[in-house]
Amino acid sequence: MLVRTTSIGVNYIDTYFREGIYQTALPYVPGSEGAGVVDALGVGTPDLVTGDRVAWCQVPGSYAQYVVAPAEALVAVPDEVSDGVAASMLLQGLTAHYLITDTHRAHGGDAVLITAGAGGVGQLLIQMAVARGYRVITTTSTESKAQICRGLGAHHVLLYPEATPERIRELSGGGVAVVFDGVGRDTFDTSLASLERRGTLVLFGAASGPVPPVDPQRLNAAGSVFLTRPKLGDFIATTEEYRDRAAEVMEGLVDGSLVLDVGATFGLTDAAQAHRALQSRRTTGSITLDPSR
Ligand code: NDP
Repeated sequence: MLVRTTSIGVNYIDTYFREGIYQTALPYVPGSEGAGVVDALGVGTPDLVTGDRVAWCQVPGSYAQYVVAPAEALVAVPDEVSDGVAASMLLQGLTAHYLITDTHRAHGGDAVLITAGAGGVGQLLIQMAVARGYRVITTTSTESKAQICRGLGAHHVLLYPEATPERIRELSGGGVAVVFDGVGRDTFDTSLASLERRGTLVLFGAASGPVPPVDPQRLNAAGSVFLTRPKLGDFIATTEEYRDRAAEVMEGLVDGSLVLDVGATFGLTDAAQAHRALQSRRTTGSITLDPSR
């Protein structure tokens, strides 16, 4: 399918590819998600016609005005969902969805810790965790970001200096059942030390840098805790699972139970600025690129 892009999603993973933390063949075009309008049909696309609004993720080369995408990656976008939201809802929305549904054993009423709560994935995770009845503790770097987290329903918001294991244990009543940690190197030790006995550390990113090798004995010492390092691709490995998760996220956006905040939009020609803003922690929510400028 040939798609004319109307908005492009910027994700932290784009910076890992740019920096070479994740290897790829060079030269390459960055980006993996976006939204647009079907421009020309390929094969195997019975339910789409030219002019349909669509969104996709995990399609390499999405920082572009036109993208060739496999039909199974395209999700129809209803009128209620704007281009910017559509361009950001899959990679970050599906990530928040699989993290909350399939990576741990916590139940409603349990306390959970979410790092970088004002970020793209973080904002969605807070909302999904609150909706499931978890007691949400989240961390962030500034008071204005903390206000965003409170507005999303987080029960306790800690700025990093006060986000110690002792404080998190105090607020959670003895440790959290699960930590969703997308920050990595700078927060890993605190995350591990904040778990309750047999809790789960879900390490899903490395915004501050990769975590050094971990001695398994540390999991024993922390209280027989679990450590997992999941990636989205394994949780949308079949088209059916991809579409089911996308449908649930889309439903939340349409009925208003899930709000996706596009915090900033840059021109496609200013993609470098978008990366700088993301990596210097100046952004909140999702970031998009406008392919028309
Ligand atoms: P965010 O919008 O969350 O941006 C990253 C945030 O991390 C910053 O805003 C900042 O928030 C925080 N941070 C803490 N320390 C640093 C640091 N040293 N440098 C930069 N940022 C820092 O990005 P995304 O929503 O795009 O991604 C969030 C995480 O999720 C990333 O680690 C990404 O790789 C991961 N991810 C993982 C997936 C998976 O399947 N495993 C899929 C998709 C994303 P603050 O100022 O509040 O500290």
